[in-house]
Formats: sequence, C-alpha cells, structure tokens
Amino acid sequence: MTRKQAIRKRDKLAARLSSASGVLRGSLLQRTVRHSSGCLKCARGEGHPLWVLTVGYPGGKTRQVSLRPDQVPQVREELEQYHTFKRTLEAISELNQFLLRLDREESKEQERKP
Ligand SMILES: [Zn+2]
Repeated sequence: MTRKQAIRKRDKLAARLSSASGVLRGSLLQRTVRHSSGCLKCARGEGHPLWVLTVGYPGGKTRQVSLRPDQVPQVREELEQYHTFKRTLEAISELNQFLLRLDREESKEQERKP
C-alpha cells in the first residue's frame, strides 16, 4: 500500500464517522418478570417479557436501563452503529500507524542517501 492509497482509504473511513449521534454501547437482554401471586399471566406460566439495556463500565460496574418494547428496534440499531463505529475507528488507527511506519522508513532511506 502506498502513502496515497493509505490516506485515501483512511479519509474514506473517517467520512463514515461524520454522524456519531446514533451510537449506543451495551447489550440488549430480555428478562421475564414473574409475579408470585395475583397475576393471571404469571399463573399461566407466561410471565412478562422485559427488555433491558446493560452497560458495563471499568471496575466491573454495570448499569441497567429498562426499555419499552417500542424502544427495542432503535436500541438494536444504535448498538450496531456503535460496533460499526468502533471497527471503523480501529481501521483508521491502523492506517495512521502504517503512515507513521512509512514516515520512519522513508526518513531512514533519506539518511542512507549520500
Ligand atoms: Zn405477572
């Protein structure tokens, strides 16, 4: 890969990150709430499905956010966007690392020239 190709690829990836407003980190879990008494649904063994967003933090802390069913599609999409963003950031970082190494190699070649 040449410098020009690396820069073009990097800038193309960076353009994809122009809209970061739709990212959400965490994982989506479905729980079932069961009432011990006085609920027909739970008496039938059905329970109440509940969607929860779980977000981990350094130090092993987690936060849980209960979701309304109508929020779930949006949350799914934003979680996916977060992963896409992360992958793209990582790819940009790799290309910048490549450019740094290229710089070093080129300056070494310059030194070797009389
Ligand atoms: Zn119930």
